[in-house]
Amino acid sequence: MAEEPISGQVDSPAARRYNQIRRWLGIADSVVGFAFLVVLLATRWSDSLRDLAYRWGFQNYSLALFMYLLLLLGISKLLGIGLDYYGFRLERGFKLPNQKFGSWLWDEFKGFLVGLIMGSVVVELLYFTIRQWPQNWWILAWVLFMGLFVLMAQLAPVVLFPIFYKFEPLEDEDLRRRLVILSEHAGTRVRGVYRWKLSEKSKKANAALTGLGNTRRIILADTLLDNYTPDEIEAVLAHELGHQVHRHILKSIFVQAAITFLGFWAANWTLHYAVDRHMFEELSDFANLPLLALVSVALSLLLMPALNAYSRFNERQADRYAFESIATVEPFVSSMNKLAEQNLAERTPSKWVEWFFHSHPSISRRLAAAEEWGRTQAQARPEL
Ligand SMILES: [Zn+2]
Repeated sequence: MAEEPISGQVDSPAARRYNQIRRWLGIADSVVGFAFLVVLLATRWSDSLRDLAYRWGFQNYSLALFMYLLLLLGISKLLGIGLDYYGFRLERGFKLPNQKFGSWLWDEFKGFLVGLIMGSVVVELLYFTIRQWPQNWWILAWVLFMGLFVLMAQLAPVVLFPIFYKFEPLEDEDLRRRLVILSEHAGTRVRGVYRWKLSEKSKKANAALTGLGNTRRIILADTLLDNYTPDEIEAVLAHELGHQVHRHILKSIFVQAAITFLGFWAANWTLHYAVDRHMFEELSDFANLPLLALVSVALSLLLMPALNAYSRFNERQADRYAFESIATVEPFVSSMNKLAEQNLAERTPSKWVEWFFHSHPSISRRLAAAEEWGRTQAQARPEL
């Protein structure tokens, strides 16, 4: 028997199809990436790439490592560009983007450069620690990596996001004041409310509380600002503030730290295993980078369901905070419905899809929780 949709929500065939294709695109992308790494190692092409990188890098280790990464990222981009383009066409097919082809291509290029720069910093640090401290490199690498992670979380809103999107201070003074008051209630000091020009790229709506410390800010997509009532925007932000109140960012950093520790331990074990089996002459031979990447991909795949379950738990907490901090749940419900419509979200994905892929509870579950909360509130406050 088919599962009864919660809250009477039925997905349109378009929403089902769109999400199905997107899921398969994601899977195909992972498979291509995984296969690429395996082939590099199995055929020893990684060694050939390393030798080429040494020639290009004037036999200098750090320069050669950079060249090797450039080759690796360049080839994998070429392998994946078809899928990326298909993803872009898909959005168009479902009338979701506003982005022109040229602008998309420019974003792809910028994304590649940003990936290359951040990747270079990470691999140079990684192999530096391996060369300096072959015994305990992985512990030091882990500490450095976590430092970088926190630094990036802080810098992202001011350095990373502006590469791809335009932001301007929110002009609507009434709304701005309302949102700042809501934030203060949640015990957070935001350093600004920004209008995020998402409409140039997509018709989807979004909002977020980003940054750490003095880069902490609220960003609201223009697609949200232009189509939602102030009450609805407040409901969306109340959810974001729920993450703040429950310290989800801090907790996520700890979770990330634990996983990364495990990851570096596994990487060290794998590298030693490979060197013992004479796959590589020494730990610092960067032709073993695909092996490190494989360890990280395998680990994140294994942990994905658990991390998504943890994330869904956090999302439910944030939703509950939103219910408590807004006057009634109606704007929450209507904003959810609008978001689902606008983003072509699947309201009732199948159970296993939700379990494996979704970082958020399904829309139908979130709406059911809101309605349930609304009912208990109505009972708690009988009309006089
Ligand atoms: Zn959330």
